[in-house]
Formats: sequence, C-alpha cells, structure tokens
Amino acid sequence: MSKYVFGIDLGTTYSCIAYVDDRGIAQIIKNSDGNTTTPSVVAFDGKTITVGEAAKEEAVLKPNETVSLVKSKMGKTDTVIKYNGKNISPEEVSSYILKKIANDASEQLSEPVKDVVITCPAYFGTAERMATKKAGEIAGLNVLEIISEPTAAALDYGCAETHDDKTILVYDLGGGTFDVTIMRITSDRIEVICSDGDHDLGGKNWDALLMRYILKEFEEKNGSVELDASSQQDLRLKVEKLKKQLSSKPQASSMIDINGKRQVMKLNRDEFDSITNTLLSQTLNKTEEAIKVARSKGYDQIDEILLVGGSTRMPQVKNALSEKYGEDKIKVFDPDEAVAKGAAIHAVNVYVKNQKALEDKTFISSERKNDLNPNDYEEDLKVDERSMSVGGAQREIIMATTKSFAVKVTHEDKTEECVNMIIKNEPMKEGFIEVSDEFYTLFRNQATVNIQIYENDYMDKKFDVDEEFFLGNAILELPKNLPAGSPIQITMKLSGEGILEVTGLDKVENNKVNVKMETKGVMSDEKFEEVKEKVKGMTVL
Ligand code: AMP
Repeated sequence: MSKYVFGIDLGTTYSCIAYVDDRGIAQIIKNSDGNTTTPSVVAFDGKTITVGEAAKEEAVLKPNETVSLVKSKMGKTDTVIKYNGKNISPEEVSSYILKKIANDASEQLSEPVKDVVITCPAYFGTAERMATKKAGEIAGLNVLEIISEPTAAALDYGCAETHDDKTILVYDLGGGTFDVTIMRITSDRIEVICSDGDHDLGGKNWDALLMRYILKEFEEKNGSVELDASSQQDLRLKVEKLKKQLSSKPQASSMIDINGKRQVMKLNRDEFDSITNTLLSQTLNKTEEAIKVARSKGYDQIDEILLVGGSTRMPQVKNALSEKYGEDKIKVFDPDEAVAKGAAIHAVNVYVKNQKALEDKTFISSERKNDLNPNDYEEDLKVDERSMSVGGAQREIIMATTKSFAVKVTHEDKTEECVNMIIKNEPMKEGFIEVSDEFYTLFRNQATVNIQIYENDYMDKKFDVDEEFFLGNAILELPKNLPAGSPIQITMKLSGEGILEVTGLDKVENNKVNVKMETKGVMSDEKFEEVKEKVKGMTVL
C-alpha cells in the first residue's frame, strides 16, 4: 500500500500529477524529464508506447501513429486510431497517459501510485465521465472519484490562503476546452453555483487561427503550398511556440520552412489579438451567461475571478476580463498546477471519508484476527494523520448538476417530447441527487415501456426531442392485461461525480429494470476487461 493518494489533471494537451506531502502541502510531482507537466500525446511503436515530450516530437515524423487531443473524444467514439489492424479507443489511449504519469510519479517518490482522483471539465456528461473513470481503471489505478477541474482549482485556491466568504468565478481556458464555474467559498464549505463551458474551445483553436493566418501570409509571398501530415504537425508546433512567446513579449518571430521554401514570420501581440478576437469573445459571452445564471440564483456579486488553464497566460484574457469586471478582481493562481493540486487535496478527503465509513462498518471474526497484518493498519493511519494537516481541506464540497436529464414521453396524439427530471445547476446537497416521477402507460394491454433518457443542457422542464442527446434506454416488461394509465415510476440518481443511474418500476407488480447507458462512446464490460489485460502487458515509456 502507498503512503500517499494522488490527484491527476488529465488535460487535453498536457497532464499533471500531484500529492499532499508529509507537511500537508499539495505538491506537483515532476515527470522523468524533470517537467511539471507531460504532453498528453501518445505514440504507438510496436510493443512500446511512448507518452509525453518524446511522443510529441514523434508526432511530426509519424503523424499517423500518434494521438493528440484524445480528451475531446472521450465518451464520444470507440475508436481514435487504428493501429496494427486494431481499433484503439480513447479510454485506452488515455490509460497510457495515466500509466506514464503514474509510473514517473511512483519513481520520483519511491512509492506506488494507486489511489487517485482524476479531473475532467465541468461540462463533461455521464459518458465522458464514465470513460475517464474507465481509462484510470484500465491503467491499473483505483479511481477514488472524478472531480470537475474548476472545483479542484477552487479547492487548491481555498486551501492555499485564508479567505473571507466570497463568490468566485473560475475562468478555465485549457488546451482544448473552456469552462466557467461560479462557486461560493466559505470557511466550512465550497458550493458550486453553476457551470458552463465549451468542449471545443481552447488553446488549440487559437493555434488553428494563427496557423491559418501564417499560412496565408506565407503563400502570399511564396505561392501556394501543399502541407503533408508531417509538415502540418511541424508548423503546428512552431505556431504554438510563437503564440507562447507572444504571452511574454510584445513581438516574436519564427522561421517557417515548408517544402524547402523558407521565410521568417514576424508577429506582434496586437496582431495576434485581433486574429483571435472572435475566440476570446466566445469565452466572454459564456462568462456573462454564467454570471446571469448565478444572479438568478441570488448571487449578485462576483468577488474574484480566478484564472486557470495554460491559455489564460495569453495577456488578452487578463486584459479583457480586467476591462469588463475590474482589474482588482482578477487572480492568477498557478494556472498549470492548481487543478492537479486541488485533486490531490480532494483525494485525501475522499480517502479519509471512505476509510472512516469502512472503519465504522467493519469488524472481523475472531478466527481471522490472526491473519491481520498490523502494518497495513499503520499504513492506513499514516494517511489519516496526514489528512488532518491539510489546511482548508476539511471543507464540505457541494457540487451542482452539470447536465439536465430527461425522459421521452409520448402524448395521446402520438407527438413526442422530452421532460427534464434533473435540471442543470441544481445543488447536490446530499452529495448526489435522486428524483422519482410517475408516468403512465398510454394503451390498454401494453406489454412493455421503453424508457429513453436524454442528457442535455436545457434548463427548461420540456423540450423537443433531439436524438443527438440520447444517452441510453431500457425496456420495462409489464404484467398482462393492464388498463391504459397504469403507473410507471422512473427514478434518476446522479452521483456527485456526475454519473447517472436510472431505474424503471412498474407499480402494479413492482418489476424493476435498470437503464443501461449505451451511448456510442461507452465501453462494454467485456471490452473493458480485454483492454485492461492488454494495457497491463504494455511497456509505456
Ligand atoms: P492546459 O490544458 O491547461 O495545460 O493548457 C494548455 C494550453 O495552454 C495549450 O493550448 C498551450 O498552448 C497553452 N499555453 C501554455 N502556456 C502558454 C503561454 N505561455 N501562452 C499562451 N498559451 C499557453
């Protein structure tokens, strides 16, 4: 058993791992290259898998054997790359990233890495969260919990300093995703009020616009060029570097080399800002929408705006938010590290909570007492003791629902509609939310009902059916000879992690059925075991 539990920020472009050290302070663990973050890039090469900086470089040479930005595919598809004639899922690719950072951390600390909390964007739905959890399990980790990135960041922020009660907005702009979350921090709790985001808006979009601009300029001077996959990847790396340079200096340049044609491209920050202005505006609009939702729930004032995520290093972000909401409100707080550190703090909390629950319930028979290893117990205690010293970590965390969940109903005139049972941004005071509603059969002698669940972002009770939001279904068998209007009870339970369970109950004979979440992205149990076995045998460098 390990002395520590860990927090992992599984990022779109970079990932990072942290733990709470013996003094009770959350610390980032460096990887084998000595860096605090590891690129979330995986390269396939026969029996070995390379992850991180080396894989990122390999992506230039062998773009068809490398995977980047896998996070944007989680829970959405079952294949991100075909390798050696096999379809490789996003869960498997992510598991290599997790395995690499866990292995590196384990070497650094000379302690195994087993119990972890993994973060995901706040807007991730059930399928994406389930996929993230499975990726961790495939990597051989015990996933204590999945927690939203902005909540983790706020935990770290809340623990690092002593604060008065305040309402904070976390503006989290990463490599591929944007999240805005508003929460209330008091001395004993952190409560999520609302969150919103865009799963396809992040540093990569800034890179793409800049790349288009540079190519256009290049072609104006040098005539049109054909980019193969390798030169495209090379240009992408140069463009990202140029963007990063513009965060620290007002102008920067890069030598662009395409098909033997070379040109030095110069760019200043104002030009970069105007090329990418539409993207920044999208984040500002989402921010304003979230503020409106918070206001509708009685939180009129935002006291602080916390900048998280690598892309908030672009001065345009801080400038725009300062101009709109006041410079004194903006707090820059460890943009690369806050999420992993907050996850580590949460991991200690969850671990201790689980441990306490277990200790309260557990006793053993006298004949087994001799099998007990007293050292194991000591190890457990070490973790317990450490948690007591994590400054603010004893705060209760109240999550809010990040999605709405509906069932499809059919009216007498055969028109259909979705009815939300759980609505987005509702507080989960008990740590979960459970809602039961009664529905009725439409026909006499109806043999079955098909319970169909739709995950969505609407905050209204009813909306038109859209198959895009379909999450899963189950057929509930009914007793014979029922009259029309016989009652069916549907219960939805959403865990604090954001994973949904649904059951249907026929109230005449009390038959129950569990709805299986069968979106195209969720891996079957059989496939899960198969991939887990495969990954166990792979060397990850
Ligand atoms: P994250 O997913 O939070 O690690 O964010 C990674 C994103 O931040 C990538 O798109 C990076 O290009 C971007 N990024 C990191 N450092 C900087 C910087 N100094 N200036 C601009 N963007 C940056």
